[in-house]
Amino acid sequence: MILSYYDLIVIGSGLAGLYTALNVNRSKSVLLITKAELSISNSALAQGGIAGELKHDDAAYERHIEDTLLAGAYMNNMSALKTLVYESSDNLNNLINYGVNFDRDDNGEIMLTREGGHRERRILHAGGDATGREIIKSLLQLVVHKENITILENTMAIDLIINNNKCFGVSVLHKDKIISLYAGATALCTGGIGEIYKNSTNPSVATGDGIAMAYRAEANINNLEFIQFHPTAFYKKTEGAKFLISEAVRGEGGYLRNVEGFRFMDKYHHLLELAPRDIVSQSVYREMYDTWSDHVYLDVTHLDPKFLRKRFPTIYQKCLDYGVDITNSLIPVAPVEHFSVGGITVDIFGKTTIENLYANGECCDSGVHGANRLASNSLLECIVFGRRIAKTINECHVTKNIKNFATHEITLSNFNYGDIRMQIKEIMERNVGIVRKKENLLNAKQVIMKIKADLRNDARVCKAYYEVVNMATVAALIIDAALKRKDSIGCHFRID
Ligand SMILES: Cc1cc2nc3c(=O)[nH]c(=O)nc-3n(C[C@H](O)[C@H](O)[C@H](O)COP(=O)(O)OP(=O)(O)OC[C@H]3O[C@@H](n4cnc5c(N)ncnc54)[C@H](O)[C@@H]3O)c2cc1C
Repeated sequence: MILSYYDLIVIGSGLAGLYTALNVNRSKSVLLITKAELSISNSALAQGGIAGELKHDDAAYERHIEDTLLAGAYMNNMSALKTLVYESSDNLNNLINYGVNFDRDDNGEIMLTREGGHRERRILHAGGDATGREIIKSLLQLVVHKENITILENTMAIDLIINNNKCFGVSVLHKDKIISLYAGATALCTGGIGEIYKNSTNPSVATGDGIAMAYRAEANINNLEFIQFHPTAFYKKTEGAKFLISEAVRGEGGYLRNVEGFRFMDKYHHLLELAPRDIVSQSVYREMYDTWSDHVYLDVTHLDPKFLRKRFPTIYQKCLDYGVDITNSLIPVAPVEHFSVGGITVDIFGKTTIENLYANGECCDSGVHGANRLASNSLLECIVFGRRIAKTINECHVTKNIKNFATHEITLSNFNYGDIRMQIKEIMERNVGIVRKKENLLNAKQVIMKIKADLRNDARVCKAYYEVVNMATVAALIIDAALKRKDSIGCHFRID
């Protein structure tokens, strides 16, 4: 049953949304809405792991901070970064208490791995290479049984309800109704923007809805030019989300080779294959260009096959499904869009610039990542700031802004806007990818503005319409941000 008022509405069922909702006291009512099924999210696909320190250790925290700063080109917000790292221990232990089974060695100790940019082993993983799936599975079991949390699946948030820079809730598309839902606080946990690129590791729900909604509500949006491209997605020509080959594979000793078989990372960085992700992606791009190829190879054939099958069961099986036995063959890989570093500006309490509106996870810009995210810090960001948002909600005594929730019956269109969606993806892939220049950005801007204008004249009430409008909105924001930043830094690389 939908109530007329909630203490908190959480939008999104990835790690940011689930962990925020779970940390809210039982005395507060929470509505969790999600666009598809509960289990569909970037979080559920996370492979490599979650970074952090299990034990309180100031020296270890400082080294983690230093690695994050190096990866982020020192553009990180120091107070947010300190919060992220210093609160990692409590939150990781909290995940263990929630039932997450991180992988352990024969002595029962939690195993740690390394990924690009980490100078030491500090990444916890679960299910071998299925960390996200395992975390989400544990949290979902708790969320569905917590009596103060109401869940609405297959429900799309369309727009925030705003008056005088204050958020009162959200309008959603639920079955064939548009419903206005009211709450004391609303948290955007809507994830990434991968769907606006032709090649991405993200699932198709990642259309940047939260960022577009916040933008329409006039919240601050920041650093959207920093789009992280993962250097090693399985290379295949067919359309659709690309399968990620986790950086942990390089962390455990994998080599990158160009199509001529030459191991090349020593030309670019002293950390070789474990250089920060932006450097590896740009190096791979360069090698592909120099060898006239659209991919390079990841080589793990020198590693023990038994270890590979045990440590990377998902990757081993998926590659086998694609016809590549990684224990004896090279894995074809290429960079694809992976993570949005920027987003809705939030402070260290997850507060946006709009009163009663919070944001957490990939849709927000907490400042922890700077100009480029250090691997495995994003899952950590979801839990650290999720708990902070929950704490604020637990402590606040809001006066209820009750209005009876309004429902409008509508006639849904089944138009799918597929052509426009593909047009946006192609233009972004071609012009706003790893390597950028002014001329291409301006061309992209022109096309996206035309698409936005056309969409205004061809509005039909359906999920596909709201998604494609959001995609065009976020694409325009990314292009504007990329045009403004004329220098190369972090994962924004200008060749002009
Ligand atoms: C393949 C892959 C591997 C990764 N590996 C790692 C890793 O090893 N370590 C790491 O730290 N990070 C990793 N990442 C990044 C990390 O998974 C994400 O940054 C993080 O999980 C984001 O969590 P989130 O909760 O913010 O968003 P998501 O997990 O993407 O969740 C967003 C949710 O919002 C919902 N939603 C979106 N729009 C709407 C709307 N309009 N209305 C209602 N609901 C909506 C979606 O359906 C979804 O449920 C990986 C990402 C991918 C794609």
